[in-house]
Amino acid sequence: MQIPFNRPFLAPRELEYLVLAASSGHTSGDGPFTRRAGELLRDLTGARSVLLTTSCTHALEMTALLLDLRPGDEVIMPSFTFVSTANAYVLRGAVPVFVDCRPDTLNLDEQAVEAAVTPRTKAIVVVHYGGVACEMEAIEKVAERHGLAVVEDNAHGLGGAYRGRPLGSFGALATQSFHATKNVSCGEGGALLVNDERLVERAEILREKGTDRSRFFRGQVDRYRWMDVGSSYLPSDVLAAGLTAQLEAFDEVQRRRRAVWDAYHSALAGADLVRPTVPDGCDHPSHLYYVLAPDPARRQELIRHLAGRGVEAAFHYQPLHCAPAGERYGRVGPGGCPVTADVADRLVRLPLHAALTEAEVAQVVEGVVQWAAG
Ligand SMILES: *Cc1c(COP(=O)(O)O)cnc(C)c1O
Repeated sequence: MQIPFNRPFLAPRELEYLVLAASSGHTSGDGPFTRRAGELLRDLTGARSVLLTTSCTHALEMTALLLDLRPGDEVIMPSFTFVSTANAYVLRGAVPVFVDCRPDTLNLDEQAVEAAVTPRTKAIVVVHYGGVACEMEAIEKVAERHGLAVVEDNAHGLGGAYRGRPLGSFGALATQSFHATKNVSCGEGGALLVNDERLVERAEILREKGTDRSRFFRGQVDRYRWMDVGSSYLPSDVLAAGLTAQLEAFDEVQRRRRAVWDAYHSALAGADLVRPTVPDGCDHPSHLYYVLAPDPARRQELIRHLAGRGVEAAFHYQPLHCAPAGERYGRVGPGGCPVTADVADRLVRLPLHAALTEAEVAQVVEGVVQWAAG
């Protein structure tokens, strides 16, 4: 393909930092680059505490451990999301309860959340689709009324805000992804943001194989011991070095992505298709750009049409509520997920990355406009 769907961005100082970390003598986790990346993430998200992890998937697994989820506990979440949002809780024996998305933002439908609450519900997991915020005010009210924890799967939302407040600062816990397809990347990586002070110390222990090694390194205990369950969720400082370079270039990455997003949005305004909706009060970080075709057959035509012009378009998500594992481990909330089932069959994602040129954007737009007129 002439225009790939994604091309990982190489930050100006990335190679320099990678070499520095690899030759520093500290290549295991929690070295100087991990601290630096954590500080940059804290500045961006306003989170109380930031722990780098090996992936967003692992950060989500940590949220399930931190919330002490037990078999049979229920977690409300959208069906329109990546599998890791659900898997993390299924691994603890908890039951994902799938709620439909809104037809405009494709975010968890806040109006449908409360009807899905039962005496076994422990948490609501929100995914800010494309980094456009969920209606956090309404969701927080439901959570408060029923004593539920809120978790943000903020894989798309780094740098986004809801009513001026950064995404990742709303949930007791929030997770980030630095997978190669995300705005900021170190190939594979993630972070757990801990906003509830009471969970900070245990989060450190779970991430360090269930030991208090973090406290030992800070000189707070004279040896480290096995304190709790846990696993190895901390990334090498070499990966954190690449991530640090990317975070230092965040403004530049965002400027380029925003230019592409805005160019698509204005150029496709007149075309006969559905474009993303961004409600007032939502500042999004241009994570993805999608259009909705009128029906599944036209969606396939659009992807083929673009491929014929050298443009790689993609689709996602396969709804979780009707996936084989979703049916086995989860259940559908009252009202079902009709919007999710409909949009998932009509959605097309256009190439969006920091290295796209104006000419490439024009080529994509021309392909879409030609298809829409056909
Ligand atoms: C990318 C993504 C994940 C998984 O991230 P990894 O870092 O690859 O584990 C989870 N949730 C959502 C919504 C994502 O987009």
